[in-house]
Order: sequence, then C-alpha cells, then structure tokens
Amino acid sequence: MTRSERLVALRGMIDSAENIVIFTGAGVSTESGIPDFRSPGTGLWTKIKPVEFSEFVSSAETRKTSWERKFNGQDTMKNATPNRGHRAIAHLMDLGKASVVVTQNVDNLHQASGIADEKVLELHGNANFAKCLTCDERYELDDLEEQFRSEGEVQPCEICGGIIKTATISFGQALPQDVLMYAVYASEHCDLFIVVGSSLQVYPAASLPELAKRSGAQLAILNRDPTPLDVVADLVVNDEIGPTLGEVIGVN
Ligand code: ZN
Repeated sequence: MTRSERLVALRGMIDSAENIVIFTGAGVSTESGIPDFRSPGTGLWTKIKPVEFSEFVSSAETRKTSWERKFNGQDTMKNATPNRGHRAIAHLMDLGKASVVVTQNVDNLHQASGIADEKVLELHGNANFAKCLTCDERYELDDLEEQFRSEGEVQPCEICGGIIKTATISFGQALPQDVLMYAVYASEHCDLFIVVGSSLQVYPAASLPELAKRSGAQLAILNRDPTPLDVVADLVVNDEIGPTLGEVIGVN
C-alpha cells in the first residue's frame, strides 16, 4: 500500500467505527518539544539517571535532587502546548467517535487540548501537579517551587505529614489500578483501537492493543517506527504523528 492508500484506509476505519479507544505514547508529544524519555540514545534518561520510587521515599537527598531537576530548567513540559496530533484526537472525542484516550504520557497535553480530565486515562500519572503519597492531597508545583526556593526543600504534607511527590508514576512504583482497570474495560469494549506514537515496548500498557484485538476490535498503529505489534495490526502507518493524523481527521 502507498502512503495515501494507508491514510484512506485509516480514514475508512475511523468512519465506520462507533467506539474508538485512542492509545498514545511519547511520539504524540515530541512535536510539542517534549523529548521521548524512553528512546534509546536520544532519550533524556540515557543522560540523566531516573529516580527510583524506593529511593525517593527513603532518601531526603534524592528528593532534593529530584525537585532541583524539576525546578531548575530541566522541565521541558512547563511551556509545552498541544500540537496538531493532540488537536486531531480532541476532535475525534468531540465528535463522539472516541470515548477515552489512554496515555503513557504525563504532560497533560490531552487535557490542554480540551479533553475532559476523566476521559484521559493516565497510566503513568501527571507531571503538572504533585500529590501526597499518603493521603493523595493535591499540591500545585508553583507553590512547591516557591517553598523549595526559600527553604531549600519541599516540606511534608500539611495534612498528614506524608511525602509529597509529582503525580507521576516513577520507576518501581505500581501503576494506578483503577486507571488500569478502566483502560482494560475500554479496550475490551471498543470496536477500533488506534495506537498513536507509542513504540509499545512498556508493559502492561502495551498489552492493551493486544487485548482489544483479541476482543474483536480492529487495530491501527500510527507510529514513526515499527512496533512489535505491527504483525497483528489491521493497519500500520509509519509516519510523523501530527501531520498524518491532522490530514486523516481534517484538523489543522
Ligand atoms: Zn498527606
């Protein structure tokens, strides 16, 4: 199939679907200037060692280093805005074609593109705010940054004394079970599952497209590079995300 035939095929799949689940990974956000942390060689994590959850909890020094990184210019997410890919996905949600977006991203850009919080299932949490690890109280990063700059550390939770951490899921930290269960349910009940910008290397997230396929949905994969699930997909498009999805869905 030529590129344009593949785009026509994707458009056809979207047109005939009634309940689409969109699954997104880092590839949808690289066009917003957010580096793909997990890309070998080019990813940020090959240069900066990621913080393990157990270290964050047990070491005040690790917490300090971690907040320093967050507040001292290494936060590429702070000023990022949604790109054409995010807008195309938001449009599918507006049309009622897609019911949820399951995402591996923590950048909040799906919500920033206009999708309601409860329709974005964040498997790896959200880096735009912080939470108490004990009582779940929400803290805003601007407030914590002010505190960090004046006191040299982020103080424990005002309510329960627990440790405060960005609301992301770190290495070694369990995925949020309620979010995962909702994502599993949505994958089992959709009629089209579209992977957008994920290399499908991280489990259990990457098992969702397989689950959708086994449950009878069609599977389309739009990613710059090939993925391990290409062999079972009904359609694979290896291309840039924003321009491709924008063209297929008719969004600029
Ligand atoms: Zn607390």
